[in-house]
Amino acid sequence: MSSPDASTPPAPYDVLFEPVAIGPLVTKNRFFQVPHCNGMGYRDPTAQAAMRRVKAEGGWAVVCTEQVEIHPTSDITPFIELRIWDDDDLPALSMIADAIHDGGALAGIELCHNGLNAPNLYSRETPLGPHHLPVAAYGYHPVQARMMSKQDIADLRRWHRNAVTRSMRAGYDLVYVYAGHSFGGIEYFLSPRFNQRTDEYGGSARNRVRLLREILEDTLEVADGRVAVACRISVADGLGGRADIEGVLGEVGELPDLWDFVLSTWEADSNTSRFGPEGEQEQYVTGLKRLTSKPVVGVGRFTSPDLMVRQVRSGVLDLIGAARPSIADPFLPEKIRTGRPETIRECIGCNICVSGDFTMSPIRCTQNPAMGEEFRRGWHPERIRVRGSSSRILVVGSGPAGLEAARALGQRGYDVVLAEATRDIGGRVARESKLPGLAAWARVLDYRQQAIATMPGVEVYRESRMSADDIVGFGFRHVAVATGATWRRDGVARWHTQPIPVDAGADVLTPDDLMGGRRPSGPRVLVYDDDHYYLGGVLAELLRNEGFDVEIVTPAAQVSAWTASTMEVDKVQRRLLLGGVTLRTSVALSAVDAGKVTVACTYTGRLSEIAADSVVMVTPRLPEEDLFRQLVARQEQGQIASVRAIGDAWAPGTIAAAVWSGRRYAEEFDTGLPGNDVVPFRREVTQLHRDPA
Ligand code: ADP
Ligand code: SF4
Repeated sequence: MSSPDASTPPAPYDVLFEPVAIGPLVTKNRFFQVPHCNGMGYRDPTAQAAMRRVKAEGGWAVVCTEQVEIHPTSDITPFIELRIWDDDDLPALSMIADAIHDGGALAGIELCHNGLNAPNLYSRETPLGPHHLPVAAYGYHPVQARMMSKQDIADLRRWHRNAVTRSMRAGYDLVYVYAGHSFGGIEYFLSPRFNQRTDEYGGSARNRVRLLREILEDTLEVADGRVAVACRISVADGLGGRADIEGVLGEVGELPDLWDFVLSTWEADSNTSRFGPEGEQEQYVTGLKRLTSKPVVGVGRFTSPDLMVRQVRSGVLDLIGAARPSIADPFLPEKIRTGRPETIRECIGCNICVSGDFTMSPIRCTQNPAMGEEFRRGWHPERIRVRGSSSRILVVGSGPAGLEAARALGQRGYDVVLAEATRDIGGRVARESKLPGLAAWARVLDYRQQAIATMPGVEVYRESRMSADDIVGFGFRHVAVATGATWRRDGVARWHTQPIPVDAGADVLTPDDLMGGRRPSGPRVLVYDDDHYYLGGVLAELLRNEGFDVEIVTPAAQVSAWTASTMEVDKVQRRLLLGGVTLRTSVALSAVDAGKVTVACTYTGRLSEIAADSVVMVTPRLPEEDLFRQLVARQEQGQIASVRAIGDAWAPGTIAAAVWSGRRYAEEFDTGLPGNDVVPFRREVTQLHRDPA
């Protein structure tokens, strides 16, 4: 093992640190942070600059922005992306480019005209498409695009040229032409499904490529060899199949300085680990590099350096593209370069990061609690302030909250005792990662366990259920209570806020029961999902796989409705339906009897009965807060100095929220908190116009 200061990357990973020529640029290695959304965009550019700087610092040779709308007709509201509509946008864009350069990387900008994908809800401009068609963006917006005239096409080319000029003025080294993911409006011209034009931009394959060719040529002309030009393009499905991308490369394969191959939709490309493995894109990208002399970047949720090496050596890719792996671990390249691959905080493929974009809130990450907090709170994925005292801290509970608190406190240099009641470390993460499709989630535990193992100040005790008396008796003065939460059994959730009638003879199980090994008493199982994230669907899958006859019932219009924010909702329905699970939506459970349940239509209240031997309640959780309450009383008696409940023990939420809560505890420990009348983070400064008239 080489030291962290090693300047020569260890074999066999040295190939990943070879330079690559991209037009006029030469990269310092093969690590390329491809464009990715972040829910910050035009609203939080300072936060984005800080986030991208950290990526650059972590060793990525190229760090890109997300899609940058080039014109008010490319307005993808309600999503919050960057804009390059006119010179007013340049200060924010320059700040981001400067931050990337400061961190030591080349800066890329993904110019985008969303075309048929832009509902223009903010600008109220008329959307532009290859044909008269409804806008294809997320949400059934009652907005149609107009078929672009020759003048519109000439305008689009001019807007794109202007955006390239502005990108260069803002200091970017590489500009994108975006024709992928069904975002780049140019892509719709390539597709015979969307492009039914009869002029020279429609019909034959050559005609459909014409707009892409013209925009690439325009971009190269403006770039004039001073910046590199990349083209991001869908290689599967979107264009109608493999032959089409081969045809496109035959036409324009030598034009851009770099090809960035993606899948046809963002959902397909950013697949979760529940629905696809690492390196899934390889099957679509293999062989394309032979069709161009230009370098190729592609993604695959890469966290394994061995897989990266194999793809480079076998000629699949020249550059290892990453969005999510760079979010989970901005320092991934540095960790490989310095011979510490085992310390990589591997992306678990959960798409909580994506949910930031879908909820119009700044990006967050399950594995990297500092993501999105670089500017707001000054958190860093690898560094943390040294301790402010010689305190010793007890963390009770080793779920994601307790693990992260212990790890981050240990990193600060504190002496920490992590006490876990059971034999297993990891809490819900250890349990849930045994469920179908969620194995990669164990990485939340793995990363923290290996980190803690290197910290002499952090001691871990298993099978150590702690009571308030134990804690006082052992002389602990500071306690973080991370005791988690328990799934409810009484039907209380969003729909019912009071317990529902449950017959004494009915067999009712909770997710805790199932994860603890209990199984339904009969073959017909009804899973009631008033939680709406992943677990209802996952448990239905588990039981179906084990041979139960499963029906999933939910008051929502779709099963696992919130997974729309992680781009999984359609995949969940598909997998359950194909697996033989019956889906019953817009229905609430109203009573449970032995052998049957009564449900009510959420619109009409009309009742009906469903035969079921057992019911699984996937409803909310209640915090395990007894210990916390007892310790608050002990604090009032002066027996301990401080106590805080963190993670699910404070308020049940996502694993990401629990990890973040653990980090927050460690960050704030021993600081004089300003109190909750003060906004606890920095915000973007809004520049008001002097005269609103
Ligand atoms: P979170 O998501 O907030 O981290 P989890 O439910 O994943 O919470 O983890 C809570 C952990 O705390 C579980 O592993 C549980 O066994 C443990 N635990 C609960 N009560 C105690 C206690 N009194 N002493 C030690 N460990 C506890
Ligand atoms: Fe990976 Fe999940 Fe983090 Fe996104 S939120 S980068 S999918 S671990």
